[in-house]
Amino acid sequence: MADVDLYKRLDPGAKSALLRRIIARCEPTGGPTPVVVFDLDGTLMDNRPRTLAILRELAGRWNSKNPDSASRLKAAAPSDLSYLLTDSLARFGITRSEMVSEAERFWRERFFADDSLKDDVALPGAVDFARACYAKGAICVYLTGRDLPMMGIGTFRSLRDLGFPIGVPGTELVCKPDFNMPDEAFKRLEAPKLARVGRVVAAFDNEPANCNVFLEQNPESESVFVDTQHLPGAPPLDPRVAIIDDFSFG
Ligand SMILES: [Mg+2]
Repeated sequence: MADVDLYKRLDPGAKSALLRRIIARCEPTGGPTPVVVFDLDGTLMDNRPRTLAILRELAGRWNSKNPDSASRLKAAAPSDLSYLLTDSLARFGITRSEMVSEAERFWRERFFADDSLKDDVALPGAVDFARACYAKGAICVYLTGRDLPMMGIGTFRSLRDLGFPIGVPGTELVCKPDFNMPDEAFKRLEAPKLARVGRVVAAFDNEPANCNVFLEQNPESESVFVDTQHLPGAPPLDPRVAIIDDFSFG
């Protein structure tokens, strides 16, 4: 979970001012079209409900042989989940190696798949903010570490169903070509190519490493860290990166 001691989030007034400033920067000025870059998991979307749905399905299978574990999984809430599945399982008292292995396999087979993405929910304010950037004139680029072969179709469907701008001129969904490619390497490689789309005015991500990369590559842009969950062992966040908890901008 987010470490409130580590990251100093903007207060609601400052967050609203930042988000409104970014919307204002989305107005075309006659030069290259403004581009806003959004990560998806942990940034525009909360994927913990996806994990919970999978764990509930697993609980159904464990009902007879492990009823206690099954009932703990069924009762889990989003706030009970850690970034890593093994840490979440430990919190539910599931530590026996064969159960952990079974749960990890069960989860992995479903989590990174088109059909599971319907369980994701938008972060507060995320849909309205993306729509406001789009309406002002920006190109919205969804740059995600989800892979195109297994998650591309479900991601498009999820963006559409949640109400994000997608499938219209001025929107792009960019996925990882290969599941096994590390996310940071993918974004480091792809981010410079955004110059062919337009001029990046803001980028949002829940991984400190990616926020640092965007700022390094686009020093004139607003790099914003969405403080939800991130990979353990992340590098220090560049102090110029703004920190928000969600997209509500009043
Ligand atoms: Mg993410």
